[in-house]
Amino acid sequence: MNSKALKEQFPILNQEINGHPLVYLDNAATSQKPKAVIDAVKQYYEWENSNVHRGVHTLGSRATEAYEGAREKVARFLHAEDASQIIFTRGTTTALNLVASSYGPAHVGIGDEIVITEMEHHSNLIPWQQLAIRTGATLKYIPMQPDGHIELADVEATITPKTKIVAINYVSNVLGVVNPVKEIAAIAHRNGGIIVIDGAQSTPHMKIDVQELDCDFYAFSGHKMCAPTGIGALYGKKELLEGMEPIEFGGEMINDVGLYESTWKELPWKFEGGTPIIAGAVGLGAAIDFLEGIGMEAVAEHERKLANYAMERLAGIEGLTLYGPKKREVGLITFNLEDVHPHDVATVLDSYGIAVRAGHHCCQPLMRWLKATATARASFYLYNTEEDIDRLVDGLIQTKEYFG
Ligand SMILES: *Cc1c(COP(=O)(O)O)cnc(C)c1O
Repeated sequence: MNSKALKEQFPILNQEINGHPLVYLDNAATSQKPKAVIDAVKQYYEWENSNVHRGVHTLGSRATEAYEGAREKVARFLHAEDASQIIFTRGTTTALNLVASSYGPAHVGIGDEIVITEMEHHSNLIPWQQLAIRTGATLKYIPMQPDGHIELADVEATITPKTKIVAINYVSNVLGVVNPVKEIAAIAHRNGGIIVIDGAQSTPHMKIDVQELDCDFYAFSGHKMCAPTGIGALYGKKELLEGMEPIEFGGEMINDVGLYESTWKELPWKFEGGTPIIAGAVGLGAAIDFLEGIGMEAVAEHERKLANYAMERLAGIEGLTLYGPKKREVGLITFNLEDVHPHDVATVLDSYGIAVRAGHHCCQPLMRWLKATATARASFYLYNTEEDIDRLVDGLIQTKEYFG
């Protein structure tokens, strides 16, 4: 994979920040967008824009085709059985909340268990916390090993026949661990429960096959995988989605509306009340075309190499704490520099044109588990190079000198 050539397809990366060529290492928060995606959104607004599913006119059918075409692409990308199992949402957060609010109260009651982990992003933690509070269910946490990974024996010990829902991220946005979600799904199913996978950090970086994982629900966001903000999706098993009630009511999602009762459209539209983010879906479709053109295996391989190169180089900086496992599968590294607040680290790095994240990364319980109030995080994508890592290492050495 030629990441230097790929970088040129991302107009925003071709600029200087504070007098230095930009090195963008905040991809776990949001990725940049290639020209192909920006052009697809522009093309949509210049030639196809209209509302969907109702226009008899030509633009109406162009917009509907573009929107439903994007759904087909998402289905193919995740290897879903059918496009009707793809619900467009605002992103991962909305998708997870849809499951927690609709499937949750219908299947979880007093004395039941919901199983999650302490490494979850707030988006895959608070909805379950709320569900437990509302239903009287017990929230249980799968223990984590000192480097943050999970042992299947602990999964076996935590999940019981009372467990109705297991919700877990495939890839942690802080630790960079890849969780054995396929094995966890099997354990959940053996106990009569279901699994909900937070795919926000996996979908952009590796090949996903929801049938192979045998997951019940799978959520992701477009904006972390080259697509615009405001669009993402929920995949669900058909019989589960069919059995669920909508949580948003209004236009677009109805079949027949009476004065006192109404009926809903079939899947997936019963969950998509109101005018959807059509241009966002078009952008997501273009992002999928772009990523498939490179190949997700190649993306994963590139990031794995970069991450392990970065781990090696960063280990050479004295006073730098690295969180998570030593060997990396994904391109995401969280760290702290001794005696320097991560916000100061990020500020000095920014003065050298290097963008990294600092803070709790929407994982306050995990920060407590790590005994850190905050951390810095560098996260990579297909356009990052070894030179970017070298710039980061140089920047951190400068930061140390600055505060030393
Ligand atoms: C970013 C992220 C989310 C939330 O995604 P949104 O796009 O903000 O809805 C959830 N989980 C993980 C692991 C994330 O990295």
